[in-house]
Amino acid sequence: MQLTHKIALRPTPEQADYFHRACGTARRVWNWALAEWNRQYSAGLKPNAMALKKQFNAIKYSDPQWLDEHGRPWLKTIHRDAHAQPFAHLQRAWSRFFADLKAGARIAPQDKAERRALREQGVKLAYPPTFKKKGRSRDSFYVANDKFKIEGQRIRLPLVGWVEMAESLRFDGKIMGATVSRTADRWFIAIQVEVPDAQFYRQRTGQGVIGVDLGLKAAATRSNGERIEAPKPLKAALRRLKIRARRLSRKVEAAKVAAGFAPKASLPKGTRLPVSNNRKKSAAILARLHARVANIRADFTHKLTMRLTRENQAVVIEDLHVQGMLANDKLARALSDVGFGMIRRQMEYKAKRYDTRLVIADRWYPSSRLCSVCGWQHEELTLKDRQWTCPNCGTDHDRDLNAALNLKRLATETALPVASPSGNGGTTTEGVSAVVGKVTLVRHEVGPQGASGQEENRAHNRALS
Ligand SMILES: [Zn+2]
Repeated sequence: MQLTHKIALRPTPEQADYFHRACGTARRVWNWALAEWNRQYSAGLKPNAMALKKQFNAIKYSDPQWLDEHGRPWLKTIHRDAHAQPFAHLQRAWSRFFADLKAGARIAPQDKAERRALREQGVKLAYPPTFKKKGRSRDSFYVANDKFKIEGQRIRLPLVGWVEMAESLRFDGKIMGATVSRTADRWFIAIQVEVPDAQFYRQRTGQGVIGVDLGLKAAATRSNGERIEAPKPLKAALRRLKIRARRLSRKVEAAKVAAGFAPKASLPKGTRLPVSNNRKKSAAILARLHARVANIRADFTHKLTMRLTRENQAVVIEDLHVQGMLANDKLARALSDVGFGMIRRQMEYKAKRYDTRLVIADRWYPSSRLCSVCGWQHEELTLKDRQWTCPNCGTDHDRDLNAALNLKRLATETALPVASPSGNGGTTTEGVSAVVGKVTLVRHEVGPQGASGQEENRAHNRALS
């Protein structure tokens, strides 16, 4: 089993400079490979990563686009892993794209609004790999396992030397590789380790069965009545984020006007506005704030998902179809506060480690609208209704708790039948077809290296202690 430990690095300015250049190299090589792939594909050829890499290796020290102003091959100053790995990544991106297509997804249209509309209808989309833009895409580069060495709290990277790490590697096992990446002005290294099963699997501390409503008001409501609130510092940080974002956009607007454009005008593609020092500073502060918000969120969701999987033999959550809901403006804020996508990915990954049965209810399952006592369905329930009384059996419901109870039933196979959507009439009776949404059992379906395979160092440790 593979685990990833992501550790903050403390590079010297020279080392950070190398990291920047290595990331830029990885990005440029990716873009070269993608352009070449597209060119060959439209010429009727069948491009593949291995052949492209060979082709690249043949020109990388001689082709003018890979030489510096003195005619020297600058790729020689960057370790080759950084310019070899993008080919493997590209192959994987295309494989994923074609697998999605095969599974019935549609090619994502270029237009953002069009995409959003499709996602809201529940249409699955396949995204072909795209070009990486400086400052827009994630900065990272790869180092193969035989190229680095770890000694306590430091790591020796090729062409860089010893770099200080914020903590030592937590896992014991065969090291598979590492990725250096940047978030705002901080550098991290994610080290993949193949660990023995005994280290991978964890002992559960409880045998509960629980339904969890990942809600808008409380971050999570459990079927035992417990409510888990989103962390307070998040609110404050989000408010500051808003102020900072506004400040930066004012500076961008000012730059536009100074360059002779009308205020609020959208600039023609490729326009570069002069960037003032103030704007640079403002952007850096904003990026740091974004990183801080992301940290608080990750810390919170790690603790939450850790508790849920550790204390229960079965957990039921809803497939919230996050992308579609995020597209809805009214919901966007509340949802992004909690980070549903993150919760789901962490649940899948941790359920595997604790051997907890994870059940994911279809997004059409009416967990909020169904009376958890008698099965009557409240068709007119809106998002604003926090409380409601079942006209059929008289039970007073707290919206979130009722949903959590319905979800729990999915795990114990006592799920209430759901009336067909037409009549907001009485309970389901004989003859009404149950349209209970599809329920997916997730146990053992998680890949060893899903995006969720990473753990934020501090969050994990704190939750354990
Ligand atoms: Zn009822």
